[in-house]
Amino acid sequence: MSDDNARQEIRFQGAGVSPGVARGTIHVVRDDFDDVARHPIEHSQIANEIGRFETALIQTRMQILEMQQKIAESIGAKDAGIFDAHLLVIEDRTLIDEVLRKLESDLCNVEWVFQEVAAGYSETLSKIDDPYLRERALDIQDVTKRVVRNLQGKAPKPFLAITEPHILIAHNLTPSDTATMDRARVLGIATDFGSRTSHTAIMARSLEIPAIVGLHDVTEKLETGENVLLDGYTGLLIVDPTPETLARYEEMEVWRVQVARDLKQLRDTKSTTRDGHHIVLSANIELPTDVDSVSTHGAEGIGLYRTEFLYLNRGTLPNEEEQYETYRKVAEHVRPDPLIIRTFDLGGDKLAAGTVDLGDEMNPFLGWRAIRFCLENIDIFKTQLRAILRASAVGNVKIMFPMISGLEELRRAMSVLNECKDELRKSGIEFSEAAEAGAMIEVPSAAISADALAREVDFFSIGTNDLIQYTIAVDRGNERIAHLYEPTHPAVLRLLKMIADAAHANNIWVGVCGEMAGDIALTPLLLGFGVDELSASAVLVPRVKRAVQSLALDECKQLVDEILKLETASEILVRCLELANKRYGDLLG
Ligand code: PEP
Ligand code: MG
Repeated sequence: MSDDNARQEIRFQGAGVSPGVARGTIHVVRDDFDDVARHPIEHSQIANEIGRFETALIQTRMQILEMQQKIAESIGAKDAGIFDAHLLVIEDRTLIDEVLRKLESDLCNVEWVFQEVAAGYSETLSKIDDPYLRERALDIQDVTKRVVRNLQGKAPKPFLAITEPHILIAHNLTPSDTATMDRARVLGIATDFGSRTSHTAIMARSLEIPAIVGLHDVTEKLETGENVLLDGYTGLLIVDPTPETLARYEEMEVWRVQVARDLKQLRDTKSTTRDGHHIVLSANIELPTDVDSVSTHGAEGIGLYRTEFLYLNRGTLPNEEEQYETYRKVAEHVRPDPLIIRTFDLGGDKLAAGTVDLGDEMNPFLGWRAIRFCLENIDIFKTQLRAILRASAVGNVKIMFPMISGLEELRRAMSVLNECKDELRKSGIEFSEAAEAGAMIEVPSAAISADALAREVDFFSIGTNDLIQYTIAVDRGNERIAHLYEPTHPAVLRLLKMIADAAHANNIWVGVCGEMAGDIALTPLLLGFGVDELSASAVLVPRVKRAVQSLALDECKQLVDEILKLETASEILVRCLELANKRYGDLLG
């Protein structure tokens, strides 16, 4: 590209997290999505907005009462009493009437109206020279957030309603925002925040929407309506691309189409190494609608079904029947291949607004997440387990527990599972007695005690996304420290070896379902550790299959022997890439 051209176009470099190239007009969303956007409504929509408001108030009331009860039980009734003031706010007739009046006069969405009215009240109170009333101002702010969060849990955000095809440029996106996107309208996604293993990135890959994250402040530099080219492979966002750049991308597209065509030929072939070892290659799915992409991309079943995604954008948790129907359909679709259903992994960056209130936590990834949440919400847990067990009667269903940190926690989860089995047996409801149960190994303490865990489950699936974040203490969603997030860190590799060895010593199989499984630079490494299964985003499955078919298990084992003696992540990566390049350099570009 000539200097002249470089001056005409502007380039931003982020991390390419979902493959594909998109071209089009951008829509910039600067607000943090927790902020409340204002959007106009028709007069005919007022009744609907009032209905949403009433539901959110009832939900908020229930959440406060539940919280009060928990606090009363654990700390005492006196401390629980502080929430009485919160209840008074949502029952305040003057405030509610003013919201209803303003809804009529301003004709815009109720979360915005409510926030405006509540902010007015809180400001007035905070100016009064009375400590009691100033406290009430804080109560109002607190409750407002809660009500708005409940409203947002059910209301599609305004930017999600844009009907023209566009490239979305956003400060940040939650996984649930991304889960509702329509590929026909959202041609590409670019965000200031985020990293490769954030759930937003995972969701974009699943939806096959090209995406770039970690662009720092791109939302401050661009305006809605500008024209861009988004390269989800390399992480380049090019504003006003020159004709030369476009021509180069067209050439690359021809090459990519050719590669994709070649990979497609592999669809019905097995993922067996050159020296005859079969590695099960499955796909990760987030939504039941992703199930078609499993066979399209030639995967052998589903190695990780992230069930929580289905429930992030709705007001209520699904009952047993609804869950059973959902799981049954997916199981039927992929049988006789396996479907590994992971129990709810709510928490961390996956918050089910309006469904379950996980509260605000200082360190959500270290907090009330996944199995920790389920073991304290036994009804929710049992409902899901019963539904999964029932689905095991019609397909090759396996159950997997996320975020297990030690043996006692695993035993508690297994005992709830056994209770559910007993109940089903007593009621004469069918399920497969042979359905396997496994643990995700994604917490370092579980990796280190893998030998003990392996004796009590049928399989392990390594969640490298979390295992890396917890081992190196690097938030997987934070682009500022993304350079520290190193899958080839020697400490991570030692843990991987420990897990794989413990599994095999106890005669159980071990898979990898984190993003490492889809990174073909690292396939030699994972094969060398002896993993039996790889489960990757469906779009990445064909590449991984080519990688597996091009490698010999022996050379991978030799590589692992060598790299375990190396001391830095970059040296190890270089060695992996050498072998990967030798065997399938054409795929690495
Ligand atoms: C992981 O942690 O690697 C994993 C597969 O689970 P999730 O990405 O949903 O946390
Ligand atoms: Mg995880």
